[in-house]
Amino acid sequence: MTIAPFVFAGLPTRVIFGPGRLAELGAEAERLGMKRPLVITGKHQAALGRDLASRITGATAFDGAAMHTPVAVTEAAMRIVRERGIDGTIAIGGGSAIGLGKAIAWRTDCPQIAVPTTYAGSEMTPILGETADGAKTTRRDPKIQPETVIYDPELTLSLPTPLSVTSGMNAIAHAVEALYAKDGNPVVSLMAEEGIRALAQALPRLHEARAEAHYGAWLCGTVLGAAGMALHHKLCHLLGGSFDLPHAETHTVILPHAVAYNAKAAPEAMARIAKALGANTAARGLFDLERALVAPAALREIGMKEEDLDRAADLAAANPYRNPAPITREGIRKLLDDAFHGRRPAA
Ligand code: NAD
Repeated sequence: MTIAPFVFAGLPTRVIFGPGRLAELGAEAERLGMKRPLVITGKHQAALGRDLASRITGATAFDGAAMHTPVAVTEAAMRIVRERGIDGTIAIGGGSAIGLGKAIAWRTDCPQIAVPTTYAGSEMTPILGETADGAKTTRRDPKIQPETVIYDPELTLSLPTPLSVTSGMNAIAHAVEALYAKDGNPVVSLMAEEGIRALAQALPRLHEARAEAHYGAWLCGTVLGAAGMALHHKLCHLLGGSFDLPHAETHTVILPHAVAYNAKAAPEAMARIAKALGANTAARGLFDLERALVAPAALREIGMKEEDLDRAADLAAANPYRNPAPITREGIRKLLDDAFHGRRPAA
């Protein structure tokens, strides 16, 4: 095994993991010096947020978090932050609630606790995506990284199986691209491979493996924060932003095809992905796992229109970026066609 030169940055977030550990939230808020925290959720988890806020001295609940962190919502929350002298955020939910906690922390540099209830991975990254006037901007800043993350798998018991599956595939996508990232390192690769293994083994038996799935999501979120992403994430970002496709479902459908696109150019990563999946090849292993989990298979099933595929390929090829295989308009158009129809990747 050859070890290429690398940079490894330490992992700054304190991670508290285990069933029932949500009970430590109040103590953790105190440890971070929060006297007037804002407890953030989306509408669906408003009751949980209110309940937790009622048990933490000085806390205020806010249930307005929404997909893609709209700046208008952040501004509404910031008015409460100023009026109440909020000095910390506690975000409970998926990437949407955690995104709002990050948006407030970026503006105020207050400490954050994230309590993820999906597998999307945002809690482990210093990355914030915000939307205003239909455009999404993404920034990376150490202030955005939550100080503490509490993974309590009991909170994921209510996550419906279809959402769990697509969210889990969203997490696996982070680990896949970390394995062929230019700025990866041996520790990131270990975490990525173990993250894929844990989720691939847990997703088919979620009734007994919620802790293993959450553990995999932690690893996959960590590598998303630590390594640069490539074709798969860029394409999903484009399809979500310009064609309004749903986040986790788009990741699920595109992943086997993005992996097939990069297969020849990143053989070592492919071998590790296949090994983690217990499959012969990475792309087919991912595709077959998704079929076994009855996940969406085709872009046409999740709202993409066939007449938009050409424009999507034009946009994806317009701004080249680092990717193991060169980005060509023709190659992306074929990838999109395969994903649109849900074809099994070639061997
Ligand atoms: P989400 O947070 O919008 O949650 C999806 C749905 O699941 C919501 O309706 C939510 O109420 C519900 N839900 C969440 N947990 C539940 C539970 N345990 N039980 C029942 N229902 C539950 O979606 P997501 O996929 O977690 O996150 C997607 C967002 O996160 C996107 O905006 C994406 O861009 C962002 N994201 C950001 C990063 C980053 O590093 N900045 C990383 C990953 C995702």
